[in-house]
Amino acid sequence: MDVVSLGEMLIDFVPDRRGSLDEVESFRKSPGGAPANVAVAVTRLGGKAAFLGKIGLDPFGRYLVEVLEREGVDTRGVVLTEEAKTGLAFVALDESGDRSFLFYRDPSADMLLRECEINEEVLREGLVFHFGSVTQIHPESRLATLMAAKRAREFGKIVSFDVNLRLHLWPGKEEALEQIQRSLPLCDILKVSEEEMELLAGTDDLMKGAEALRAYGPRLVLITLGERGTYYQTADLTGRVPSFRVKPVDTTGAGDAFAGGFLLQMCDRMRGRSFDQVIGFEEELREVIRYANAVGAFTVTRHGAIPALPTKAEVFEFMYAGRGKINKNNPFPR
Ligand code: ATP
Repeated sequence: MDVVSLGEMLIDFVPDRRGSLDEVESFRKSPGGAPANVAVAVTRLGGKAAFLGKIGLDPFGRYLVEVLEREGVDTRGVVLTEEAKTGLAFVALDESGDRSFLFYRDPSADMLLRECEINEEVLREGLVFHFGSVTQIHPESRLATLMAAKRAREFGKIVSFDVNLRLHLWPGKEEALEQIQRSLPLCDILKVSEEEMELLAGTDDLMKGAEALRAYGPRLVLITLGERGTYYQTADLTGRVPSFRVKPVDTTGAGDAFAGGFLLQMCDRMRGRSFDQVIGFEEELREVIRYANAVGAFTVTRHGAIPALPTKAEVFEFMYAGRGKINKNNPFPR
């Protein structure tokens, strides 16, 4: 197993046109939830992924499990429950395709994931464990998320944390930042957007912000910059990898697609080598990020989150058709 991803899975209602929610007339049901998107991103790209999370035992929940299974994601760690319904999120798209959300979670099943419901057998099978911050909002699922991250570390897994901050879901900004800062020491790879970095590190300077975040413990900080690509920093390396030129129609899932692409490439390269060895070669690290950028850029050219995720063949074609600067001798380990 390459990646075991833990967190929320819910239904995104994607609007038929841009504009605020009061103007939109119809929505299309689409599977969503960042950690679930990451798991599907990995399997679309030819990797093996499992999803750990709690979903309502209702028609929407059954649909989500079906989606995971159809996409080849391992669902042994999915808990179906009658305690609460599957969460819903209505998406609004602005003129540049950027989104905002209106969530219906009062509470939703994902918030009620318990420590004892984490499938340790699955957790042990992955090379990488990935989690986010939405399941850290509610105390019940927070305990489960943090316990799983700690266990993953004990089992020697590489731990990846995509902050994916949804500030309006937290009781307050201070609590959100405090809680997220507290979970930073649990990860090896930290992925944040520029806004998240500014909030967490208190600076808009990428280098200083990444340094401040690395001080909590992560060995690699990735700051996603949308069309400008991705900034990276390790103890020894720092720089930016530009992204590909595309016409964005919907940015939903770009960050998750990026994360899936990045983690799968890391898994491929870590077989027989350590994490530090892989991130220690700047050329290689930049190649991994370039691939992940391509996966992210491709995703913004299609609607929805999961439906927009590219296959391995699509990324390959996109990278060659786009710029063709890839090393032809060893473009992909897979
Ligand atoms: P999300 O908003 O989904 O949580 P995020 O803020 O983490 O995502 P983005 O920066 O929007 O992530 O996108 C992730 C990556 O995808 C970027 O680092 C970039 O490589 C690529 N990407 C996103 N949007 C574009 C774009 N408009 N043009 C080219 N590449 C893009």
